[in-house]
Amino acid sequence: MTGREMLTELLGHLAAVDPSNDNLRNHQEEIWNSVVNVIPVMMPYASALFNQRAVGDRPAVVPTHSKNLAFISQFVEMPFDMVFTEQYSIRAAQVAVYTFLGIPLSQLTTLHHYEKDPKILARATKTMFR
Ligand SMILES: Cc1cc2nc3c(=O)[nH]c(=O)nc-3n(C[C@H](O)[C@H](O)[C@H](O)COP(=O)(O)OP(=O)(O)OC[C@H]3O[C@@H](n4cnc5c(N)ncnc54)[C@H](O)[C@@H]3O)c2cc1C
Repeated sequence: MTGREMLTELLGHLAAVDPSNDNLRNHQEEIWNSVVNVIPVMMPYASALFNQRAVGDRPAVVPTHSKNLAFISQFVEMPFDMVFTEQYSIRAAQVAVYTFLGIPLSQLTTLHHYEKDPKILARATKTMFR
């Protein structure tokens, strides 16, 4: 996307939730004319989390036999959970703390298995063919 396209999208989102009588949409030209520059920023490593990996490439949060060492954040292996999300980082920290404090992992924040929820699957299918 160019900077202009990004700003167009942002203004679209903001206009959709702008409750004022004089909607932001009416001022697009004015905003365009006042913007000096919008420089898109590349994040070349942002997709590294999605790199193909084999079991064992990333450590478990608490490695086997570890009593005081844990790994957190995005490059740990947690079955089923989805990388890139804030939940992934939070859950990794939760797993580490709960393990060392002896709190049963059954008390971790529940992971929703949306892939087994018929209502969600039906909505996803509908969206796919929209
Ligand atoms: C553009 C973008 C959009 C996103 N959108 C979403 C979204 O909509 N929903 C969602 O769930 N997730 C989203 N994410 C992902 C989410 O932001 C991250 O997965 C999450 O913030 C990671 O949290 P973290 O605490 O593990 O790591 P970080 O937030 O990366 O924190 C790591 C911290 O460690 C610091 N650090 C690094 N090295 C050192 C060092 N040597 N010494 C001291 N400090 C150090 C860093 O400065 C940083 O503050 C998005 C990410 C990006 C980049």
